Amino acid sequence: VAATVGIDLGGTKVQAVLVDGDDLVADVRTSTPAGGPEAVVEAIAALLADLGSGAKGVPIGVGAPGVIDPRTGVLHRAPNLPGFDAGVALGPMVAEATGAERVVVANDANVAVVAEHVMGAGRGAADVLGVWVGTGVGGGFVLDGRLRVGPSGLTGEIGHVVVVDGGRRCACGLDGHLEAYAGRAGMEKEARRRYADGEATLLVELAGEGRMKSGIFAKALEAGDRVAEELLEEAVQALGVALSTAATLIDLQRIVVGGGVAEKLGVPYVARIGEATRRRLLVPETGPEVLPAELGDLAGALGAALLVR
Ligand SMILES: [Zn+2]
Repeated sequence: VAATVGIDLGGTKVQAVLVDGDDLVADVRTSTPAGGPEAVVEAIAALLADLGSGAKGVPIGVGAPGVIDPRTGVLHRAPNLPGFDAGVALGPMVAEATGAERVVVANDANVAVVAEHVMGAGRGAADVLGVWVGTGVGGGFVLDGRLRVGPSGLTGEIGHVVVVDGGRRCACGLDGHLEAYAGRAGMEKEARRRYADGEATLLVELAGEGRMKSGIFAKALEAGDRVAEELLEEAVQALGVALSTAATLIDLQRIVVGGGVAEKLGVPYVARIGEATRRRLLVPETGPEVLPAELGDLAGALGAALLVR
């Protein structure tokens, strides 16, 4: 297998890897520039140079946070990337700036599940659902050993399935989606609402006006904070609803849970999600294994490099 480059374009950093066969040859990263698509593509070209001469001209896979047209590589709706308001033809732009003859752009949650399937917690399973719990909730499906993208590029958008009809408002504007209950931003919003209603909680005391990071949830839970525990329980049960539904619909054998929240809260959190999933299944004994992701924040870049093979 020839060498490929994988790029994980995130809201805060851009990660690049050079992969040859099963070996990670080099990995470099930089902060995501705020200047919009041109600045981001320049940063990608600079990272490529940093990867060394082995990265010159090789095929490039890019994982990006948004909805990507699978036919054209045009990135639509990327609210976490400043300046990416209209559709951005990211694939052609990267090809032109780097001289790569082949550039494939895919959703970041989708490419991460490819990496976990090939070299992480999804190894050996034909079908894998990856669920990434961070600021929002993303996901991706490998089915019969291949990434399923779907004609609209929307396969695996598990953060936007309804877990409570008419429930909490999601960041996307619709009601009752999983992300509103299990995503870090949704949990923060609910914690602040309860605090404003007069409930004391360490979550707001520790975060102040700043972002309520995953580490703050971990600290509050450790200290036995009641609001934090209730929010976590709601998140776990919401995940159980969504994951048991997915598992039932396709007789799923493996679910991998990763992302910033999952990394901070660790194995006990993933075990609770597994329990909340199994107790909703018709035949729990044949239900899926629910395992923590193994590749951490390199999963996106590695998956992008694997996908372009
Ligand atoms: Zn939503």
